Amino acid sequence: MSQSSVAIIAGSQLADYHFGEEHAFGPLRHQAFLDGMDRLDLNCQVEWLQPVQCDVQHLRFFHNNDFIDMVKQRSESGVGFLDSGDTPARKGIFEAASTVVGSVLDLVDRIMSKQFRRGFAPIAGLHHGFRDHCSGFCVFNDCGIAIQYLRQQHHLQKVLYVDIDAHHGDGVFYNYESDSNLFIVDFHEDGRFLYPGTGDADEMGTGPAYGTKMNFPMPKRANDDDFARLWAEAEVFIQSVEPEFIILQCGADSMKGDPITDLEYSEKSYQLATESLCRIADEVCEGRLIALGGGGYNMENISLAWPVVVRAML
Ligand SMILES: [Zn+2]
Repeated sequence: MSQSSVAIIAGSQLADYHFGEEHAFGPLRHQAFLDGMDRLDLNCQVEWLQPVQCDVQHLRFFHNNDFIDMVKQRSESGVGFLDSGDTPARKGIFEAASTVVGSVLDLVDRIMSKQFRRGFAPIAGLHHGFRDHCSGFCVFNDCGIAIQYLRQQHHLQKVLYVDIDAHHGDGVFYNYESDSNLFIVDFHEDGRFLYPGTGDADEMGTGPAYGTKMNFPMPKRANDDDFARLWAEAEVFIQSVEPEFIILQCGADSMKGDPITDLEYSEKSYQLATESLCRIADEVCEGRLIALGGGGYNMENISLAWPVVVRAML
């Protein structure tokens, strides 16, 4: 075990995953996280790692070849969109998106080899990526790839995916809807009001997987009290799962003041969720947990929420 139990992957290659200054998913998000780490004085308590780009074979864990080729081609030209209009084909986005994935897989490897207990990647948690298409600022679904990687490379079965981003994690949810070993708890703004419009409470998994997923659609302006009340319910479920590994997507866009959502949590909700998950991870899976930054389009909120997640992981 290294000096710190928590590893953070950050650096310019990871910061390069963005869609330009005019776009909500802009280039300042990575620095906003670093500023927050400074402010909470956490820099010396964690181990900093450099980003790594993954191989194409790792993308194939979750995505099909046609989709991967399309991203590569449009990334070279830098023209148009990768989806119907939310996710621009910025030049070099293929390499940047592959770096998000490679960095998350590196954290997984280091946790599985017991070098670290937990890991955090600020620019990651791209939960709207599907097998054959992408949307919502997400190119390659690092969450889904990490799940497949845990299974194929590290031979784990039972993985828990928790998502508190304001948007429903549809790319993860629908890919594993009928998978009875992938447990999901997803808090998000009610799909009637916000993209992608999915994640009703009665979506609990299909076939043999029924009951392995929980969706918590939150009303507009839901706050820390609303979150805490429902988290208690989620926690009972999570405790019963006894996962072998926990992935937390902690999108900062559920914080009050986000420009594209309507939830009103403070950093307290991020702390509550992370502390609870770390406690459970310590009890049932040797502490193994990675947290992925996800969304968040208000820089002040990013600099509050994500460092609080890191602090709770320590
Ligand atoms: Zn989001």
